[in-house]
Amino acid sequence: MSEAEASAPAGSDSAVRAIAGDGRILALAARTTGLAEEARRRHGAWPTATAALGRALTGAALLGMSLKEEGQSVTLRIFGNGPIGGLIAEARHGGLVRGYARNPAVHLPVRPDGKLDVGGAVGKKGVLHVTRDLGVQQPYTGSYPLVSGEIGEDLTSYLGRAEQVPSLVSLGVLVGTDGAVRSSGGLIIQMLPGADDADALRLEENVRRLGPVSRAVDQGAAPSDLIAAALSDMAPRILSEEPLRFHCGCSRARVRDALVSLGPGELRAMIEEDGAAEAVCHFCGERYAFDRSDLTEMLDLAGGAR
Ligand SMILES: [Zn+2]
Repeated sequence: MSEAEASAPAGSDSAVRAIAGDGRILALAARTTGLAEEARRRHGAWPTATAALGRALTGAALLGMSLKEEGQSVTLRIFGNGPIGGLIAEARHGGLVRGYARNPAVHLPVRPDGKLDVGGAVGKKGVLHVTRDLGVQQPYTGSYPLVSGEIGEDLTSYLGRAEQVPSLVSLGVLVGTDGAVRSSGGLIIQMLPGADDADALRLEENVRRLGPVSRAVDQGAAPSDLIAAALSDMAPRILSEEPLRFHCGCSRARVRDALVSLGPGELRAMIEEDGAAEAVCHFCGERYAFDRSDLTEMLDLAGGAR
């Protein structure tokens, strides 16, 4: 293990939920630097893809703040016509977040304003699907066309039009010259019933003054600082704070079960053709290798022993 691997990325990622303006405004803010960097490292993502994936993970983490019970999850699936081909980000109750880009090897020329061209990498045409699985009924999925592929704008549009909650969404990832994530964070402000145009204008002005969230995080802003800046003079009150981390529920045992479920025919073919099998988890990039004796044991479990 190298020096770099031994020292885990120093991260104190967390998200906060706050209420302001006598209950007219709900705000969510997060620092996701460690999360975005772990996703980059696990998937070997290039800078533009790193920013896109980090923004998607941050958006999912923020929406996941509304989950109340174990087993509940929110998943964003962003399918645009750009070279990334698709982004999946999932947040589960407890601040557990995972995700991947279909093609993480994407880096485009930087935009004239100096920002990474996330919209170009994701694509401006496509669909954002938001699935909320509350563990009781069928998961609910809402879908809405992409606006710009910048993810923050797409989520703003989705929340306002598909879910009828006027929202301001700001997501940002700063990628260093070494390709690693320097800072990452996000902010979602939602106008609840009772909020008026004056509130909306004031919030827009505050968010504009705050500037890019990734820069604020880079300068040391904690989620509560983002809330204080975005909701200044609206008496914000923090309702909850929880740590966030990259976490995938996959395991060798689960992959084994999945292989067993393929049935004796498939397993026999693997044994005869390669004498081994390897499965890679899409979500976290973990590799699981099985040799001939593992496969023979699985064949046995699948009821195909000769
Ligand atoms: Zn995994």
